[in-house]
Amino acid sequence: MNLGVVDRIRAAVYEVEHHTRTITPDAGQYTGEESRVYDWARQHTAHLKTEQQNAREAIIYRQGLEHAIAAGDTTVVRKHPCPQCGCWGLYWREAAQRAVCVNHYCVDDDGVSHMWELKRLAHDHIARKSAVARCAT
Ligand SMILES: [Zn+2]
Repeated sequence: MNLGVVDRIRAAVYEVEHHTRTITPDAGQYTGEESRVYDWARQHTAHLKTEQQNAREAIIYRQGLEHAIAAGDTTVVRKHPCPQCGCWGLYWREAAQRAVCVNHYCVDDDGVSHMWELKRLAHDHIARKSAVARCAT
């Protein structure tokens, strides 16, 4: 049993539960299995506005990225375009805990490569998905 994994999952469940109860106080305490917390969160927030649904989905999506990276699969960041230049050259920098853009021209004023938190990648990903869904209906 890997304690790190247990702690991470517990923290992830707590974050989802806390977020859900913040926006829907009557959701009550989550007492189910850890693996079902996403279903529970979606159930209790399904009536909310698109932005709030997107915020929930962004957390869920980001946790998925975190779990994958913790399990050693850092290629998940490559499935996202760089929020700055739009290229598909992101790679994971473990020490910084951020995705870094490989494009030499995609740097800040100090010439440092742009780096992105998973939170930002998840937010952009959900926003794109949501925009596509809106166009389709
Ligand atoms: Zn870039």
